[in-house]
Amino acid sequence: MSFLYDISRTIAPTLAVWPGDTPFTLTHTLRKADGASVNLTTITLSPHTGSHADAPYHFNDGDLHPSEMPLEPFIGVAHVVTVKRQHGGITPQDLASHDLSGVQRLLLHTWVSDVPDDEWPQDFPYPTVELIDWLAEQGAVLLGVDSPSVDRFDSQTLPCHHRLRQRGLFHLETLQLAHVPDGVYELVALPLKLARACGSPVRAILRSLEHA
Ligand SMILES: [Zn+2]
Repeated sequence: MSFLYDISRTIAPTLAVWPGDTPFTLTHTLRKADGASVNLTTITLSPHTGSHADAPYHFNDGDLHPSEMPLEPFIGVAHVVTVKRQHGGITPQDLASHDLSGVQRLLLHTWVSDVPDDEWPQDFPYPTVELIDWLAEQGAVLLGVDSPSVDRFDSQTLPCHHRLRQRGLFHLETLQLAHVPDGVYELVALPLKLARACGSPVRAILRSLEHA
């Protein structure tokens, strides 16, 4: 029997979003209670609401939208590792105690997973360009973080977003890895087939490997 971990944040009006981004809203267009044949809702959200995949168009004009992104990076074997570093850039040395040779997808579990959905994490840790280069050398295709960005909160130049793209990796942000033991799993976190958008929410799950 395989076991599933849901590693997605819950999308609700109370979910914290990036300061200045569009908050999630939900309204009813029709209600059964009012005599309609169905309940019908309308939702408004930024593609970066909760657990999501950034599209390269987010940081590169003319680059890929979610409907054009390959799916392979978002489904397959993934390593989950706990990172003890509380703040600043996460380096390969921070992960030295883990066996990550040949890692394809790396999910970084930090204290940010313990922050409630309705609180914005202050001063979250973030990957370094050095870590991304190391991952690329391992042949990795995806980096996932539980923080809201793969760059530091106040970065204007987004070096890690760009280095990931240059090295052929995609990335997931705002995962929720609390209660997930470190280990190797199958990740499924497919972006919606959204044209023209700058990212997509994902329902991210980890499935235990029967023969791990
Ligand atoms: Zn994002």
